[in-house]
Amino acid sequence: MPTLALVEADAKACVACPLAATRTQVVFARGDGSSGLMFVGEAPGRDEDLQGAPFVGRSGQLLDRLVAEELGLARDEYYVANVVKCRPPGNRDPLPEEIAACHHFLDAQIGEVAPRVIVTLGNFATRYLLATTEGITRLRGRSYPYRDGIEIVPTFHPSAALRSGGAVVADMRADLIRAKRALAR
Ligand code: URA
Repeated sequence: MPTLALVEADAKACVACPLAATRTQVVFARGDGSSGLMFVGEAPGRDEDLQGAPFVGRSGQLLDRLVAEELGLARDEYYVANVVKCRPPGNRDPLPEEIAACHHFLDAQIGEVAPRVIVTLGNFATRYLLATTEGITRLRGRSYPYRDGIEIVPTFHPSAALRSGGAVVADMRADLIRAKRALAR
């Protein structure tokens, strides 16, 4: 079995934290990394828990529309995963111990997909991958070197854009254009 499929099978059997008891299913990834672009979100919500794929609800629809408009990519042309693979009950924030139990799956996904650019969506993904406690508002607006020559482009979580509207969407578009330029380098 290819390594990514082994990692997925491992994740699907995981009972390393209490989220295993309340999940409907493990949400591993969607899409394909051939464009060199990967998105990392926080944790599955209700729609994702039911459908078994990340960013399939309203946040995902906004993400897919902005990526289509700014990068001209269809939703199956980029890889999408979360830091935490199981839904926190009531969509609460993931706990530090849940992130600690789960992040090795994301690390393996990044290693296997080998993207050139990772766009982190919101505080949890950005803080985890950049190993910082700084907030997304201060971190976004530039790109950061990550391992293996990967560039990280932080942006807002699309749920923040759904809540706050115009200015956040404009900033997300600017960040996606930054990701597009990084992909072209
Ligand atoms: N929010 C996330 O961070 N990830 C999803 O998959 C859905 C909503």
